Amino acid sequence: MTTMSQALAERAAELAALLERYNHEYYTLDAPTVPDAEYDRLFRELAELEAAHPELRRPDSPTQRVGAAPLPAFAPVVHAVPMLSLSNAFSDLDAPDFATRHAELIAFDERVRKGLGQAVVEYACEPKFDGLAVSLVYENGVLVQGATRGDGTTGENVTENLRTVRSIPLRLETPNPPALLEVRGEVLMLKKDFERLNAEQAARGDKPFANPRNAAAGSLRQLDSRITAQRRLSFFAYGVARVEGADAPATHETEMAWLATLGIPRVGDGLAAVVEGADGLARFYEGVLARRASLPFDIDGVVYKVNKKAEQEALGFVSRAPRFAIAHKYPAEEALTVVEAIDVQV
Ligand code: NAD
Repeated sequence: MTTMSQALAERAAELAALLERYNHEYYTLDAPTVPDAEYDRLFRELAELEAAHPELRRPDSPTQRVGAAPLPAFAPVVHAVPMLSLSNAFSDLDAPDFATRHAELIAFDERVRKGLGQAVVEYACEPKFDGLAVSLVYENGVLVQGATRGDGTTGENVTENLRTVRSIPLRLETPNPPALLEVRGEVLMLKKDFERLNAEQAARGDKPFANPRNAAAGSLRQLDSRITAQRRLSFFAYGVARVEGADAPATHETEMAWLATLGIPRVGDGLAAVVEGADGLARFYEGVLARRASLPFDIDGVVYKVNKKAEQEALGFVSRAPRFAIAHKYPAEEALTVVEAIDVQV
């Protein structure tokens, strides 16, 4: 090995080890020690290194995996449909012209159009909730299982805890429920509930939570569901993984509208839209960015999904993320200031 390639291999190994540590702190302990922007920067450096030198890509590289292993204290749930990550796109908001500002967005739309052989593609746009992903399984309209994403293949059984989240229906609001419905969505803590919780922590002399995302994750991943019940958690659906005994809607937009008729919360208030083309995506991104600070919950970007399910299937997946969707991230709101571990009771 030449000195140059040795140096690259060493850097790749160093990045992989760092990202593994950060994954463990963030996903398993709910206690990150670096801001997300720093994590994203290192992740991208490793991904670019591996793309330029495929021989450096180890099968267990953080770029090939989702999340982190579930905590053994929880019963495991093997996901019938894997819970994946999302590829990221960033914009350079200081760039003077559209093409430079949104180059990665334009590249995403080009890849999708090329993959489908179409001149125009319709996208469903939503906020990227900064909470944690969960799966909810309803059998004949009754909530029977709730799980975290874990490593994407196996998650943690947190059914009892999810039953305490008031906006999650225990029974679907329909006289004719599907035999099986698996909903995917995000559990989060509203900013006002986070502030209230931290005020209560301070009054008791307990440590404050670092941010709403960590408070939500730490509150949901409790072995005692009475603790979860005391925390105010919210839920917003963003997709359907499985349907049996009913016709699955043909687009993401109609799927979300169907969930709403079943009593499942989804984001409203002009925060979901269907648009065409990179300029439509960019308008959505900038419109939601202007409202970001006044939203009731934290978001770290927006998500675009090809709207038609048949087109989603045609595009398929890469190792850890769908090809038909992308997370368009916003600039970091603030650096990580307080970092406190939350007692995940194990
Ligand atoms: P991701 O958060 O970038 O994307 C996938 C997740 O997005 C899904 O699992 C889901 O929970 C969520 N999501 C929110 N809104 C959605 C919507 N409308 N539709 C679909 N999904 C939606 O992927 P990831 O692999 O979970 O996390 C990576 C990110 O987590 C990094 O970019 C980084 O910001 C952060 N992270 C930070 C650290 C750290 O140490 N600070 C460590 C690991 C990860």
